[in-house]
Amino acid sequence: MKDCPFCQIVKGEKPADFIYQDEKAVAFNDLNPQGKIHILIVPRKHLSSIQEMEEEDRLLVGHLFWAAKKIAQEKGLSGYRLIFNVGEEGGQKVPHLHLHLVSPEVKHLP
Ligand code: AMP
Ligand code: ZN
Repeated sequence: MKDCPFCQIVKGEKPADFIYQDEKAVAFNDLNPQGKIHILIVPRKHLSSIQEMEEEDRLLVGHLFWAAKKIAQEKGLSGYRLIFNVGEEGGQKVPHLHLHLVSPEVKHLP
């Protein structure tokens, strides 16, 4: 999607502080961290939110959790939160699916 900020990051058209990349997803530090660690795990494919998820996206969504687990392991985290905000009323501001990984001191739920 042309005007989507996370599509622009995925394509390298917009900078981000990448900490993980694979064939299906990328992860980068949140610009406005709500904990000591606040990472966004983002599928390369544009999906607006969990609300727009189709049956064919089940493996992709599972993959985001897998990437989160690998990142947490790599960083030696023993506890963290994994959060999807869904839709404007659910606190979602960027309309490209992303999983928040926040640890350990959450100031406000992202
Ligand atoms: P949400 O409210 O769930 O849509 O979360 C969007 C998150 O993206 C917020 O925590 C923002 O701080 C973060 N964010 C927005 N733009 C960028 C960006 N260009 N690079 C990194 N994080 C961003
Ligand atoms: Zn997008």
